[in-house]
Amino acid sequence: MNEFNLETYKKRIFKTISKYKLVEPKDKIFIGLSGGKDSGCALFFISQYLKTYKVDAEIFAFHIKLGDFIPEKVIETVKKQTEICEIELKIYDIKNYGIDYEKISKLTRPLCSSCGTIKRYLMNKISREEGATKLCTGHHGDDFIVFFMKNIIGKNIDWITKFTPYLEGKGKQLTRIRPLFFGSGEENKNFLNSIGFPYISEDICPHSLLKQKFDKRREKWYRVINQISEWQPNFKIYFLEGIIEIAKNLKEQKEPFECEVCGEPTNKRICGFCKLIKTQKDAQ
Ligand code: AMP
Ligand code: ZN
Repeated sequence: MNEFNLETYKKRIFKTISKYKLVEPKDKIFIGLSGGKDSGCALFFISQYLKTYKVDAEIFAFHIKLGDFIPEKVIETVKKQTEICEIELKIYDIKNYGIDYEKISKLTRPLCSSCGTIKRYLMNKISREEGATKLCTGHHGDDFIVFFMKNIIGKNIDWITKFTPYLEGKGKQLTRIRPLFFGSGEENKNFLNSIGFPYISEDICPHSLLKQKFDKRREKWYRVINQISEWQPNFKIYFLEGIIEIAKNLKEQKEPFECEVCGEPTNKRICGFCKLIKTQKDAQ
């Protein structure tokens, strides 16, 4: 296992931010915070980068509260994270967008996928409506390597165009930035532990039995890429650079349609979020 070095990690993330022009003067960047280590790390690095290079851009952090089951500790943690970075925090509740998490959790469709649909939809809608120029998330390199492999297996080749540190917005879809593209979950954890930055380390999902199954599979994927990294130096970095090259060479993605019900971007006639709302209503 490679020795973790705080400064080397920071340099790698700063290099991603500058090389891919993730932040530019006049930007209004919205960072989605879950309370966990990855989004906490993204917030820390982006805010440090702006301060270090005196970039004249604004950052706002936001947290989407999925339901009343979310422990107060999560809200306190995102508050602390933003206070340390001196960034304004906005909190949104999914109840105000017609979603009843309790009902969604009882539907037959897989809950983790519904939860992902809700978060992706609201992160884009909220940030865009608040005037953001870019949406920043804590997705990291391990996520992208695993997404890539799964999309190859599923033959969803078009999706691979989305796996880059900077993803240009199209139509109502905001530009997305991933400062931790060349980072990993383990390094984010080591970094935050070394500087004593707060984050929630335990699982806050109330459906943990169901989620455990999902997480166990994900852990297996992560374990495999970590095993390769042990004998193949710089495996992850080279693999991620390869993904960026493939993404560049794939055909340009078409502009998304606008959902016939809500007008938000989608690649279908009706977006996943509106379908979920309808299923929730039909189940009543
Ligand atoms: P996940 O899908 O949970 O792996 O989260 C991916 C990214 O979405 C995180 O790194 C955060 O930047 C963002 N995110 C996750 N959950 C929330 C939330 N409840 N509110 C705002 N942003 C979130
Ligand atoms: Zn819709």
